[in-house]
Amino acid sequence: MKSQFEVYLRLKPSNNQSQNAMQYQLYHNKRLQVLLPRHVKFGLVNNSRDNLEFNFTHVFDQKSTQEQIFSTVTIPVINSFLDGYNATIFAYGQTGSGKTYTMSGAETWQLRGVIPRALSYIFDEIDKRTKFQYKIYISFMEIYNENAYDLLEKRHLETPLEQWNKIALYEDDQNNIHLKNLSIHQCNNEQEGIDLLMMGNFIRQVSSTPMNQSSSRSHCIFTVTLEGCDTTSETCFVSKLHLVDLAGSERISKSQVEGNLLNEAKYINLSLTYLEQVIIALNERMKGANRQHIPYRNSLMTTLLKDSLGGNCKTVMISTISSENDNIEETLSTLRFSQRVGQLENEIRRNEKVDLEAVVKRLEQEKLLLIRELEQYQRGGNVNSNNKKLQTQQQMLPLSNGQSLNQKEVSEKVELYLNERLSQLDIKSVEEAQLCFEAMKDLYNTRMKEYVHELTFISEKLQKYDELLTRKKEQSSFLEQKENSSPEVEVYRRNESPQINLKKKPNQ
Ligand code: ADP
Ligand code: MG
Repeated sequence: MKSQFEVYLRLKPSNNQSQNAMQYQLYHNKRLQVLLPRHVKFGLVNNSRDNLEFNFTHVFDQKSTQEQIFSTVTIPVINSFLDGYNATIFAYGQTGSGKTYTMSGAETWQLRGVIPRALSYIFDEIDKRTKFQYKIYISFMEIYNENAYDLLEKRHLETPLEQWNKIALYEDDQNNIHLKNLSIHQCNNEQEGIDLLMMGNFIRQVSSTPMNQSSSRSHCIFTVTLEGCDTTSETCFVSKLHLVDLAGSERISKSQVEGNLLNEAKYINLSLTYLEQVIIALNERMKGANRQHIPYRNSLMTTLLKDSLGGNCKTVMISTISSENDNIEETLSTLRFSQRVGQLENEIRRNEKVDLEAVVKRLEQEKLLLIRELEQYQRGGNVNSNNKKLQTQQQMLPLSNGQSLNQKEVSEKVELYLNERLSQLDIKSVEEAQLCFEAMKDLYNTRMKEYVHELTFISEKLQKYDELLTRKKEQSSFLEQKENSSPEVEVYRRNESPQINLKKKPNQ
């Protein structure tokens, strides 16, 4: 199924009512026309234009609320995630334009953003969907200077960032990306999810070292993994939801930064430049260009989000812009980037798989029944004797002693004798003995055929059983990853800290 990228725009409320506010027109909440200030207009190749237009799935104006963003943008994405499709929501924009406000929220519960609202919605919905049994896992990471770190590792509360284990990436034969040093936490309710989000944000704040002074320089990926098993069949699915707060998209000129900052700026710009290159390459491929190679591997972020960008994922971007003319160049750059992203589409499919554990359980029961049946055959017992009686004609045979013999009766007598329900065969004539031997031969041949048939059936079943066990082992890498991670998390109860703690670092 094709899934066009959806791109939403959110305008940050203007700080003041000054003449410096960006001039724009909004049509049907979908088309934004930006009136260009003089200095920008003269920077254009064709400087006769005084406005530029951009199209979006929906534009949220300065009065938009967190609730509106959630119900319009997030709910459809999460419904699709709950149905078993991978999904990603990105926030993209320059520093200060409202990415973190949109994704995590402000300091009060009322102003909470996409991530906490998504957690509440997910747990409410899975309670309603009783046909499935669900398991939810959460991980939270930060990418900073091309290194990725676990934000849910408790030890990070006590150690500086320089001593943290970096998350290592490796790719398996099927090009699946696996992550080492990223903990995955099973989560049973909304509260536990919110606690993990708060813990991650807290770790992000305490990681403030001279090297990492500002969240605007790092990308954050909050990932919810859902395992759903249909209780009425043997199918399960695994879907992933990435909620991404990207680093500020501003182009920092080298003259403005020095030392470590220069290093950071280089990395941030590089990873966002690589993101742009991936989007351009995907765009070209969509338009029919012969582009086999998409440069995902150039940066950690694009490698990690490879599926979100050009794979099996429903992807949505929320672009945030400032409403001040001071930022017009960055705003135009965000708007242009959004237009390119909006042209992309992904091919999505449900990540369904057979629930191997349920299949194995069923096969084990079947195997037991078969073994029992086999034992009965080996003991000579007549399994399903009603159905398997010899089909002998009701024929009367004349005997030499003048009497006649019912062939069917002889066969039944022989069958009883063979099943040890008759202690001896009472034979009165040579013809009767011959008939008994005939009946024995027929019974023997029928039994052998049944026996071979049953054995073939059992060995086929056992072979299938072995194949499934092998497949189960192959598919268990995801589960192994979960088992290797530490499930305990430090829990911050909501009543201890009634507001979402998303305070900015002092020097941001
Ligand atoms: P970014 O993450 O893009 O750098 P932030 O989300 O931190 O930007 O926003 C910068 C400041 O602006 C914060 O104080 C935030 O609360 C405020 N802010 C951003 N967007 C909005 C909005 N739509 N409504 C009200 N305040 C906002
Ligand atoms: Mg931010």
